[in-house]
Amino acid sequence: MAGLYIHIPFCGSRCVYCDFYSTTSLELREQYVDCLCEELKMKRTAEPIFASGDTCTTIETIYFGGGTPSLLTPPQILRILRCIAKYFTLASDIEVTLEANPQDLDKTYITSLLGIGINRLSIGCQSFQNDFLKFLHRRHTAEQAIQVVELAHQCGFEDISVDLIYGLPKQTLKDFQQDIQTALSLPVKHISTYCLTIEENTPLHKMFLKDKSLQQDDETLNDMYSMLCEKLNSWYHYEVSNFAINQQFISQHNSSYWNNTPYLGIGAGAHSYDGNNTRSWNISNLQKYISEIEKDVLPCEKETLTDEDRLTELVMLRLRTKEGINLTSLNEQIRNKLLSKAKPFIESGKLKIADNHLSATRQGIAILNLIIEELI
Ligand code: SF4
Repeated sequence: MAGLYIHIPFCGSRCVYCDFYSTTSLELREQYVDCLCEELKMKRTAEPIFASGDTCTTIETIYFGGGTPSLLTPPQILRILRCIAKYFTLASDIEVTLEANPQDLDKTYITSLLGIGINRLSIGCQSFQNDFLKFLHRRHTAEQAIQVVELAHQCGFEDISVDLIYGLPKQTLKDFQQDIQTALSLPVKHISTYCLTIEENTPLHKMFLKDKSLQQDDETLNDMYSMLCEKLNSWYHYEVSNFAINQQFISQHNSSYWNNTPYLGIGAGAHSYDGNNTRSWNISNLQKYISEIEKDVLPCEKETLTDEDRLTELVMLRLRTKEGINLTSLNEQIRNKLLSKAKPFIESGKLKIADNHLSATRQGIAILNLIIEELI
């Protein structure tokens, strides 16, 4: 069992808050798709990719992320899917997600996606208010976002996720409440919500240096997050930022990152994990990625995780999930060490133990980064 991540590093324009690697040089798309197919072939025929043994590994999820995967044409996406099917065994109930920008979606495009096997659409709405979208330099309008979610549903997409960002400059609790309500009024089965972070070397960071009020204070952010949890109280809150209408609609692919499932990343900047102790990542530069692949070289670096690295990752990833850390999976010495550090948080009601799992309570989630720092 494994996941396959395909990175599409193209964007129509750059959003002010984004520090992900992507390029607006769209003319390289066809050549890039050629390289993705080549990398799939190279990785399939190279040394075993997954610790469990390469040949018997079935791909259960495929995720086209970016960047903006909806800037590829359906024939280009189909070409990648055919290539994956050629080199890997696919699960019969495979989840195939594509991240999309609302502006790229129309009836023809959506129908084509369904026709080529995409069965989960993750739409980057971010907000349903035009002032905020404009500030963020998003390409779409609120009206477009609402229309395309409805259109995708009418066309036959059952599994639709929308992304929202909170903590936007000058955003009030009421503004965010409206965004949540709009999302809830739409035919979506999954909502991902991220707190805006002001990353260095972004246009937003430059603005922030001139106007510190662009960053919301911790109290407002906590109030926004509390309101989010309250409004989505009946949803399945399976990870700090992720809510599914019920367990059937959790993102299987993203869950693999939190569940120690191996995944293979293809494309510039994509990361892979073998399910044991090896992580690797491709070069985050489109031109260099293309030129290396064209020379038959995998543009990839690796690191071997120590036991300590693995424990740190386990705490960082699993404490973000509803289920938490399975204490029975840890050896006695590590379990005792972890529990002694966790004790003050358990006593103050920020962490809890149930069914041999250590997890964050609602109060704990509000200070999760601090708890994780103390535990690792
Ligand atoms: S569309 Fe996504 S990846 Fe591209 S610039 Fe905006 S936030 Fe970054």
